[in-house]
Amino acid sequence: MSVSREEELLASVPDGLYIAGQWRAAEGGKTLDVADPATGDVIRSIADASVADGAAAMDAAAESFPAWAATPVRERAEILRRAFDLLQARREDIALLMTLEMGKPLAEARGEVAYGGEFLRWFSEEAAHVQGRYGANPEGTGRMIVTQHPVGPCFLITPWNFPLAMATRKIAPALAAGCTVVIKPASLTPLTTLFFVKLLEEAGVPAGVVNVITTSTTGPVSERIIRDPRLRKLSFTGSTPVGQRLLQQAAEGVLRTSMELGGNAPFVVFDDADLDKAVEGAMQAKFRNIGQACTAANRFIVHRSVVEEFTRRVTERVQGMRIGRGTEDGVQIGPLIDDRAVAKATQLVGDAVQRGATVTVGGAAVDGPGTFYQPTVVADVQPGSEILREEIFGPVLAIVPFDTEDDAVRIANDTEYGLVSYVFTENLARGQRMIERLETGMMGLNVGVVSNAAAPFGGWKLSGLGREGGAEGIHEYLQTKYTLTANP
Ligand code: NAD
Repeated sequence: MSVSREEELLASVPDGLYIAGQWRAAEGGKTLDVADPATGDVIRSIADASVADGAAAMDAAAESFPAWAATPVRERAEILRRAFDLLQARREDIALLMTLEMGKPLAEARGEVAYGGEFLRWFSEEAAHVQGRYGANPEGTGRMIVTQHPVGPCFLITPWNFPLAMATRKIAPALAAGCTVVIKPASLTPLTTLFFVKLLEEAGVPAGVVNVITTSTTGPVSERIIRDPRLRKLSFTGSTPVGQRLLQQAAEGVLRTSMELGGNAPFVVFDDADLDKAVEGAMQAKFRNIGQACTAANRFIVHRSVVEEFTRRVTERVQGMRIGRGTEDGVQIGPLIDDRAVAKATQLVGDAVQRGATVTVGGAAVDGPGTFYQPTVVADVQPGSEILREEIFGPVLAIVPFDTEDDAVRIANDTEYGLVSYVFTENLARGQRMIERLETGMMGLNVGVVSNAAAPFGGWKLSGLGREGGAEGIHEYLQTKYTLTANP
């Protein structure tokens, strides 16, 4: 990878806030630095919005809403489709940008461009499928008309782990439905959103329809927007504690909310599983995004009769993994996002070992620049270990043995989260029982990755509210009106 290509790309990213169709500096010219987690080097300085800047973005979203809501659906859909095409044309640039600011290996960043881009294409197609109903009421005394309307200006807050896909998964359905937005990317990884919004501008999104604020004063800037009486919807992806706090703020305005929160995914391997599939699925479900995914398998619950073989095989695979900067060829494990993430992995592995688990490979942070942690397998994790309760958010594969199907279900459901579960079995009836018994918003049966723009993504329990993607995704941004008319 040539340094000049990286520099050229970084220099091409807008460094301002995008408000009412203008790129502008933050109030008082304040800036915030963005660093490459593989080196710790600052790679770009960008505008750092104040509360007043956030309010200006809110004004723009509110003012542009009536015209955008009245824009024909086909026109809105075509803009999204153009954005999809532009994203494909700039695929390599946007992938590299994600690797530079977030650390994921370039091959995975390309995968995220493919996945994230699909939301633009999917919702460009869904936009025209929103329909109403017309018919006589059961008494025959009148006609009922049911219509769908955009909810209004929306505030979208995204996390750092999937900088592009989390933005497209919210912006695309909002725009398709006729809503305007203010988006606030994570301050650790704002560059991808800024770059993407420049593509939306090129695709013909009118001024004020999409507004971007980047800020280090996250709490106050967000709260000002959430408490604005013109805001009608909050869509948040991030941790459960922050989501809970935002729900309290959103209660005042009785906002529509979508909450994509934390996970603690079980990955259950039965004695009748195809172990080749299970090992392959485990590597994907655990190490994709360096383990920093809400869908990452957190607890490997493996039948006692196959646990030794499973542990040996995943250990061998992990021994062969290459750690390094995501831009280097063949790297599978990039840096974690920051020091805190490394400290958390260190602490969780330490606690598990202290309670009797065994590290079969890895188990330590990597010295030197950047925030790296070795890909790790921890076997024989004991009940009560923190690693079974907490989202690891790092490349640590923790294994717990089980004896009966009931045990597997009990352990899998023993969490306050319910985002995704993975089950490996070749027994169809058992697979069906697990679909019915697991408390989960999504499930992978003999597969290690489930995300798809055409599917409803979302969780049960503390993992969230609402669904993103699929036919469901656009309805998060629509509200229903029922009208009764007299018979003609
Ligand atoms: P986070 O909650 O710290 O931050 C998420 C976003 O919220 C960021 O933009 C951050 O700046 C913002 N934020 C933080 N404090 C805020 C406040 N007081 N007011 C308003 N905004 C605030 O989470 P994170 O560390 O960026 O992301 C990791 C978490 O996200 C994990 O828990 C992961 O499971 C979750 N996640 C969930 C999904 C999903 O779809 N369910 C997808 C990706 C990540």
